Amino acid sequence: MLIQLKDNCNDKDFQEIVSVVKSLGYKPSEVVTQYGRYVICVGSAEVDIRIIGNLNGIKDVHVVADQSKLVSRLWKVQTTEIPLGDGIVISRDHLTIGMGPCSIEDEEQVIRIVGFLKENGVALMRGGVYKPRSSPYSFRGHGLEGLKFFYKHCQANGIKVVSEVMQVSQVEEMHDYIDIYQVGTRNSQNFNLLDELGKVNKPVLLKRGMSSTLQELLASAEYIFSNGNEKVILCERGIRTYETAYRNTLDLNAVPYLKEKSHLPVFVDPSHGVGVRAYVEPMALAAVMAGADGLLMEIHEVPERAVSDGDQSLNLTEARRCITRIRETVRLRDSLYDLTPYQATDPDH
Ligand code: PEP
Ligand code: MN
Repeated sequence: MLIQLKDNCNDKDFQEIVSVVKSLGYKPSEVVTQYGRYVICVGSAEVDIRIIGNLNGIKDVHVVADQSKLVSRLWKVQTTEIPLGDGIVISRDHLTIGMGPCSIEDEEQVIRIVGFLKENGVALMRGGVYKPRSSPYSFRGHGLEGLKFFYKHCQANGIKVVSEVMQVSQVEEMHDYIDIYQVGTRNSQNFNLLDELGKVNKPVLLKRGMSSTLQELLASAEYIFSNGNEKVILCERGIRTYETAYRNTLDLNAVPYLKEKSHLPVFVDPSHGVGVRAYVEPMALAAVMAGADGLLMEIHEVPERAVSDGDQSLNLTEARRCITRIRETVRLRDSLYDLTPYQATDPDH
C-alpha cells in the first residue's frame, strides 16, 4: 500500500496515520521527495483502504502490491516528466536523443561534438570522465577537470550533460557540473551510491545491471526514489547471455515491460547493447519501435582512434544518418500505433 500525504499533513495527522497503519499489521516508512510526501506500507494484511483514506492529512491511498512501490505505475497514472531547463524535458511524449563519446578525451573534442549535436538538434551529450574499465591499465577518464570543460561547452550551447558517477564521494563533486548523473551497469546495485543519488535534486539515468533482472532494476530505481529523488530514468543497455557473437544481448522486451510496470521514462543504449558499430543503427531503430523514450549512443569523430569503445561508436557521418532515421522511425511509430500495452484482461486480446 502507498499513501500520498497532503502538503498540509501535520505531525499529529501523521502520527495518527502511522498508528492506524501499524494497527492494521503494516510496517510504515515515510518518504519525502522533491514533489511529495508518502507513507510506504509493507505487509500482507487485507484491509479496507477506506479506513485509512478517511484520516486527516491523506491525499490518496493506493493498493500497490508490487515490491517496488514508488516507481510502480499502479498508483501514478501520469507518467514522469523530467524538465532539464532550456526547454528540454524528458518524457514519454517525445523521444530524446543523447550522443557523445564513450570517454571525454580532450576539450577540442568536446567543442567539435557539441557543434555537431547543436547542428543536429540533439538535446543531450554523453561522455564519461570517470570510466569503469575492465582492465586497470586502460584509460580511466579525465575526472572532475574533464567534467568542468565538458559542462562549460555544453552549457554555453544549451546542451545537457549526462556522465557516469562511480562512487558516493563523486556525487557532490560532480553536482554543479552535471545535468543527469549516469549510474553504469556495474553500479546498478551499488545501494550506497543509489541512496546518495536519492538525496540530490538532479535526474539520474539508471542503467540495468548486466546480469540484473528487470525486477532488480526497478528495485534499484526504488532506492533512489525512496531517498527523495523522483527524477529517475531507466535505461536498458544489454545483458550478458550465452550469446558471444556481439558484446551484449540488447533486451528490447524490457521497453514495453518497464513502460507498463513503471511510470518512469525508459531509455535504450544500443551502443553498449550490441557493441558492434554496424549493428547500432538497426538496434536504435528497433528500440524506437519498441517504445523507447530516449536513446543514448556513442559517437566519435574517428572511432578507430577512440580511447574507449571505438568498436561501437558511430562516426559523425553515420551518426547524422542515424539521427535522421531515428526521427523518421519516431514519425512512423507515432503514426502506426498507440504504445499502451494491451491489458491481459482485455477480452479482445
Ligand atoms: C558507458 O556509458 O560508457 C558505460 C560504461 O556504460 P555501461 O555502464 O552500460 O557499460
Ligand atoms: Mn562506453
